[in-house]
Amino acid sequence: MYTVIKRMEVSAAHSLSLSYPSKCGQLHGHNWIITVYCRARELNADGMVVDFSHIKQLVKGRLDHRNLNETLPFNPTAENIARWICEQIPACFKVEVQESESNMAVYEKD
Ligand SMILES: [Zn+2]
Repeated sequence: MYTVIKRMEVSAAHSLSLSYPSKCGQLHGHNWIITVYCRARELNADGMVVDFSHIKQLVKGRLDHRNLNETLPFNPTAENIARWICEQIPACFKVEVQESESNMAVYEKD
């Protein structure tokens, strides 16, 4: 089994729709550190699990310097962002979305 790990920094804004009062309801930004884990039993014809630049294009290319509320069709919590990223990349099995030094969400496929 082969695994590749791609880390990216994505600067973007969001506001969260929550069922309780929170400052996160205000539009604000993060420099998210996003780590994408992909694996495959066999390499493709190019000798890769997936091209690192294709991961970057699918994640950073679509989220960087955006308002995530306008870009994504769901409440853009770190958890929801992690699941969405995992769904965009067929070989992906795990995504970490670090919002700040102390806050990180992880999504893993069953
Ligand atoms: Zn936030």
